Amino acid sequence: MSAFSQVDIADQYVNRYKKIGIMGGTFDPIHNGHLVIAEQIRCKYKLDKVLFIPTGTPPHKSNRNIIDSKHRYFMTLLATVTNPCFEVSKIEIESNEISYTINTIKKLKEMYPKDTELYFITGADAICQLDTWKNVDDLSKLCKFVAATRPGHSLKEVDEKIHELYKNYNTFIQKIDIPVLAISSTDIRYRIKNKQSIKYLLPEPVEYYIYKNNLYV
Ligand code: ATP
Ligand code: MG
Repeated sequence: MSAFSQVDIADQYVNRYKKIGIMGGTFDPIHNGHLVIAEQIRCKYKLDKVLFIPTGTPPHKSNRNIIDSKHRYFMTLLATVTNPCFEVSKIEIESNEISYTINTIKKLKEMYPKDTELYFITGADAICQLDTWKNVDDLSKLCKFVAATRPGHSLKEVDEKIHELYKNYNTFIQKIDIPVLAISSTDIRYRIKNKQSIKYLLPEPVEYYIYKNNLYV
């Protein structure tokens, strides 16, 4: 095989990614709710891969102490390693700026070929706050949104929000029903603090990582 054909193969590999899911989150810690919605949406929309992007300094959570991004990154790696279509990106944790989604999406748009479609994956709670995000109108032109229903969040409120965002910003949001998973990082942190079991709420290697590093105690 000539060096030339190897380059062709490498190019083909990069260009193979036409539809990419973006799963942004604090992942403090990552849990099975995140993994299930990412996998279900990947399959439904035939996404080539899902990029998990742990936030650096998130604008919405500055009122509580989020654990070091190094730990959140390692836990995200451990949780996603068994899925060949899942990848973890350091794009936000390596930046010193506040993690605004619009900046991340613009950077990703530059990294991938022009015709790559980006699908931003969120839960229903995040979609209900979308109009507080920076430059939501520009963001709506750069990616599609897929909102997974989440126990505890009214479907009516989500539907109204989707309608309002479309009317105000032309935001295209698909809603998808996910098998009920009332798991949240807040609840997992609470359970650890109160010495309750977190088994089966998150992947086992992440559970061991948390105990080994004495996190959330
Ligand atoms: P916290 O309780 O600290 O806010 P979280 O469980 O909401 O944590 P995040 O890292 O805030 O997790 O969430 C990242 C994304 O995943 C958000 O879009 C959120 O709506 C979505 N998400 C998290 N858990 C679920 C779930 N169980 N079902 C549907 N979506 C979820
Ligand atoms: Mg949350």
